[in-house]
Amino acid sequence: MSGITDAERYLLEQIRRGDGPAWEKFVGQYRGRLLRFAHAKAGQRADAEDLVQETFIGFLTGLGDYRGDASPETYLFTILRRKIINSYRSAHSRNIGLIQDVYRGSEEPDSDAFAALPGREATASWYVRRDENKDRIRAALGAALTELVDGYKTNLNFRDLMIVELLFYCQLSNMDTSKIVGISERNIAVIKHRCLKQVKEAIAAAAVNFDDSAGFENLLTEVWESGRLSCPKRSTIGAMLLGTLESDWQGYVEFHLNRLGCHFCRANLEDLKQETADDPSKKIHARIMESTVGFLHKPR
Ligand SMILES: [Zn+2]
Repeated sequence: MSGITDAERYLLEQIRRGDGPAWEKFVGQYRGRLLRFAHAKAGQRADAEDLVQETFIGFLTGLGDYRGDASPETYLFTILRRKIINSYRSAHSRNIGLIQDVYRGSEEPDSDAFAALPGREATASWYVRRDENKDRIRAALGAALTELVDGYKTNLNFRDLMIVELLFYCQLSNMDTSKIVGISERNIAVIKHRCLKQVKEAIAAAAVNFDDSAGFENLLTEVWESGRLSCPKRSTIGAMLLGTLESDWQGYVEFHLNRLGCHFCRANLEDLKQETADDPSKKIHARIMESTVGFLHKPR
C-alpha cells in the first residue's frame, strides 16, 4: 500500500510545527497534479484553482486527524474530490469513454447521490478516525490485496491484474470485464473466485473478527482506492511517457491510464507532461538518467 514514507512524515512534522519553507516545498510538490485533476474533473472552470487552494487549506486544518495510513497525495486527492463533488452544479464528463468515468462517474452529479451510494460515504471519509476492529479489517484487507497485486507484477501477469482492477477497483460485472479483456465470462468468474478466496483466507489468518456478508466488495474497492493498490508510481508513469518501460509494463500502465482511466494517475500524467513541456531539457535529462542508472555502481 502506498502509505506514508519517512521523508514525508518528517516533512509533515515540520509543517505541523508551522515551518513555512517545509509547507512551500509540500505545496510545490503536489499543486500541479491537483490542478490537473481539478481541470479534468471540473472542466476548464475558473474555480479549479480555488478548489485546489481550498484543498490545501483543508489539508492543513485536517492535519491533526491525518494518521498517515495513506500517502499525502491520496489524502489530498480525497479532499479535492469532495470539494469538486460539492461544487458540481451540472453533470458532465470530459473523459467519457474511460472505464472509471462510465462505471463510477455516477458519484459526480451531486453530493446527495454520492452520499447515497453504499460505501461511497465511507470512501470520502476514510481518513477520519474509526473503530479499532474496522481499522484492523482494513489493514488485513490492504495487506492481502497488496500481496495479490505484487504477485501479479512480479510474475508479469498483467492480464490478471487488469481483470482484478476492473472487478475490484472499478466494480465492473464479470460480463463487462469479459468484453474488455477478451476472455470468457466463466474464466473471469474463476479468477474472481480465486482472488476472493485468497483475500478472505488472509483476513482469517490475521485473526480479524470479520463478517463478510454485507458490503464486502465496497470495502474492498474502498481499500483498493485509498491505498492506490495497483497505481504505478509517478516515476513509472514518467517512464511510460518516455517509452522506456519494458513492453509488458508499458502495456499495463497504458491500460491503467488510458483505458481504465485512473483519475489519480491521469492527473499525475498531465502534470508530468506539463513539466516536460515547460523545460524541454527535462525530457532528455530523464532519458539520460533512465538509460545510465544501471551503469552507476558497476565495478571497474
Ligand atoms: Zn492509478
